[in-house]
Amino acid sequence: MPEVQSGVQPGMQSGGGEPDVRAGGPQDGFMREALAEAQRAWDLGEVPVGAVVVKDGVVIARGFNQPIAGHDPTAHAEIVALRAAASVLGNYRLPGCELYVTLEPCVMCSGAMMHARLAKVVYGARDPKTGAAGSVVDLFASPQLNHHTAAVGGVLDEDCGNMLKAFFASRRAASRAARTEREKQAIAGARLAGGHGAG
Ligand SMILES: [Zn+2]
Repeated sequence: MPEVQSGVQPGMQSGGGEPDVRAGGPQDGFMREALAEAQRAWDLGEVPVGAVVVKDGVVIARGFNQPIAGHDPTAHAEIVALRAAASVLGNYRLPGCELYVTLEPCVMCSGAMMHARLAKVVYGARDPKTGAAGSVVDLFASPQLNHHTAAVGGVLDEDCGNMLKAFFASRRAASRAARTEREKQAIAGARLAGGHGAG
């Protein structure tokens, strides 16, 4: 398998997470598992974000983004994976666990990770719109909020970001095609109406 450059930019680590962003290594494998979860979200028409929870080097829970299908604004990939992990362990706290997610977590998910006392979150692409691990705010760097959870970004960030870009590009193309079709039908309808008027 070709090595993938992590392409990390300076200042991507936060919350005291060590700069553990070398290409290759086990964290790339876990991020690929998270990417497979993101693909499951895409297959259902949801924004493709995926997550896995790892304990002692083993994936114990998985989750993908599914707020639309579930009519649930909290059904982000991280929340789904955290709930599954807590259920597996029979514990509402997840000390010693790491969560891998393809996109920088939002405020809600970051808060849930802190409540779970997660040891570490590793994310792929940055989210300049809602990222709460340094892009918009850095909750993990706040000592009043966070005593337990380290945050590391930029793992397979190109792969993770490219999946999101491809998803939104395909959605835009689909809505353009639908608009063109509506316009065609409107023109055809107007011609028909015009024909009747003239006759
Ligand atoms: Zn979230």
